[in-house]
Amino acid sequence: MSMTRSLSILADLIGHPTVTRQTNLALIEHVRAMLAAQGIASTLVFDETGTKANLFASTGPADVPGVVLSGHTDVVPVDGQAWSLEPFTLTQRDGRLYGRGSADMKGFIACAVHAMMEASSLRLKRPLQLALSYDEEIGCVGVRRLLDLLEVAPVRPYLCIVGEPTMMRLATGHKGKTALHATCHGREGHSAQAPFTVNALHLGCDLVNEVRQLQASISRQGGRDEAYDVPYTTLHVGKFNGGVALNIVPNRCEIDFEIRNIAHDDPHALVDVLKAAASRITAQAQTVVPEARVEIVEVNSYPGLDTSRTQDAVDFVRSFHPEDEVLKLAFGTEGGLFTARLGVPVVVCGPGSITQAHKPDEFVEAAQLDQCDAFLAKLLGQLQAS
Ligand SMILES: [Zn+2]
Repeated sequence: MSMTRSLSILADLIGHPTVTRQTNLALIEHVRAMLAAQGIASTLVFDETGTKANLFASTGPADVPGVVLSGHTDVVPVDGQAWSLEPFTLTQRDGRLYGRGSADMKGFIACAVHAMMEASSLRLKRPLQLALSYDEEIGCVGVRRLLDLLEVAPVRPYLCIVGEPTMMRLATGHKGKTALHATCHGREGHSAQAPFTVNALHLGCDLVNEVRQLQASISRQGGRDEAYDVPYTTLHVGKFNGGVALNIVPNRCEIDFEIRNIAHDDPHALVDVLKAAASRITAQAQTVVPEARVEIVEVNSYPGLDTSRTQDAVDFVRSFHPEDEVLKLAFGTEGGLFTARLGVPVVVCGPGSITQAHKPDEFVEAAQLDQCDAFLAKLLGQLQAS
């Protein structure tokens, strides 16, 4: 297999182990240097510790709204996963390119960096821009600082293409996500005298029951969007911790749960419903012990994406990437934040499949990388013409 430019960039990117808990600065510096060699300047936006950064770069006329290629540089950990290959080295085998982040989403970033370098020698009428973020995998955290900057820029982008893996199909929507944490406080006691005190696990069960009742009512009579596999807002409890020994009434219980909402539903209104339920559970428990309570805090939230299919910007993409069916995705992306903060239309389109992401022996097909290169070459053609 011969090495295309994008493939060789991908090999470099995979070689930087940018697991979310680690720094991404070496990767960012590497991309900055590649762009600088083509005369493209980059702006870096650091996190509060200075160990991670977003990168934004633009090539073409400065006073015209551009097309942003957006990707996250962080990858999920490999801990506890049975990899048969070295995760942070690109391995080519049987038309597949293996390595952590190959599908999610360094394959796209490699093609995007390549397209930026190509664009630097073209006469663009509309600029091509690159936005790389950190800390996406823990709830689209890092990109928010980059959006602070873009929000006050004199010209906002025309379109943002988020290159999460869609097998190069065009997607215009995904659900929003709100991560929540509940702490239930009871009072310890001898289990033989359990009714004299408050069992924190029992409080937790009452809250989980409320979560399930809310889900049942939403699935029966809530809003629907049939473009999704699960066509309504979902609630789910992911973690439930508490208790020390069978003969001790537990005094504390911790619960992690989430809401994944369709555009029709306001997640904050649903959080309010659950907080009201927590108040009722608390009031009941405090008739037994005064310090008993259930507290809910919002850990993290990002908005859903629901780009109208009749947007000019969507037609613009379809003019060179004809897709009859436009998808909605089961997983979230940074795209919802681009729309919410900048009012920019967003499509999601990138190489590889989400079913190959976050797993041992993650891969992207070499043919997908080629398709992404071809897609971006057609985009460059449009940016010269438009
Ligand atoms: Zn991703």
